[in-house]
Amino acid sequence: MGTGILTIDLDAIAANWRTLAAMSRGATGAVVKADGYGCGASHVARRLAREGAREFFVATAEEGATLRHALGAGPVINIFSGHMSGDTALIRDHGLVPMLNSPEQANRHRSALPDRPYGVQLDTGMNRLGMEAPDWAATRGDLEAGPLTLVMSHLACADEPAHPQNGAQLAAFTAMSAGVTAPRSFSATGGILLGPDYHFDLTRPGIGLYGGLPFATAQPVVTLSLPVVQIRDVARGETVGYAASFTAERSTKIATVSAGYADGLIRQMSGKARLFSGDAGCRLAGRVSMDLLTVDVTDLPATPDCLDILGPHQGVDALAEAAGTIGYEILTSLGGRYQRAYIGA
Ligand SMILES: *Cc1c(COP(=O)(O)O)cnc(C)c1O
Repeated sequence: MGTGILTIDLDAIAANWRTLAAMSRGATGAVVKADGYGCGASHVARRLAREGAREFFVATAEEGATLRHALGAGPVINIFSGHMSGDTALIRDHGLVPMLNSPEQANRHRSALPDRPYGVQLDTGMNRLGMEAPDWAATRGDLEAGPLTLVMSHLACADEPAHPQNGAQLAAFTAMSAGVTAPRSFSATGGILLGPDYHFDLTRPGIGLYGGLPFATAQPVVTLSLPVVQIRDVARGETVGYAASFTAERSTKIATVSAGYADGLIRQMSGKARLFSGDAGCRLAGRVSMDLLTVDVTDLPATPDCLDILGPHQGVDALAEAAGTIGYEILTSLGGRYQRAYIGA
């Protein structure tokens, strides 16, 4: 078989959710946008619903519709991008709850679907999504008179506990949401770790469920094992791959492995990431190409059938560091060509 095997441990995701839920002061939702951070939103959400999660979050109404098919009636599906023009039928037919981000979205929702629930997203300093204080002040009375189910905001710097913007956003959210009777939600993974002052009624972890920083004690979730297509001996002085960027400094055994930047193993990993055969790490030799990696396996005692690029010795954050990015980007880039295998489905 020429494709890699991406194994997703739903038991680990469930354990991470339970740990974050035990830390959270109120209820705990689950963020499954971007196909569950590349892990498969339907599988992840069905498993977390079994664990007791009742509130799910995705970025768009289209994602929400797909998720509704997976979950069936019952769980709440909240949409961060709110009620966009063209979303009305999706929101109505799939029972989605838009987080209204502006007075325009509020008007659109209240006139198109007057009886349908909605949340409000407040901007408390990130300047990305949400109503600013004057918009909220102007629309608040009207919105609180209808089926308002959640008031939320999002922290910009929660992965840096000492950052002064955390406290500033907390003060802004506390002030803007004072007196609302709807449940309030403020924290993603990073905010949960900042402590109970940041939790309010519902937390919204994403990356921590999938084993990524800043949840340093998370159980790892993904392993990625790639088949070796070919092995060759390269003499000292010969080069490997595009641009001849690797030169053998000794007699070198090169394994050519099936996966490349088209599968989310981005070119910036070239020369930096390692692949593992059991406990033994082997360096990438030369550039990552679209469908293939070349790996220096000279020091392995035997010729491997496959090599692991994500696993116990190199998790998503270690691979991200080698590539100069963050675990979120590694996970959400994992390509469509892998065969996906689920533990605990
Ligand atoms: C993505 C996102 C989350 C989840 O964030 P993590 O850092 O992955 O836990 C929560 N809330 C909002 C608004 C988001 O966009």
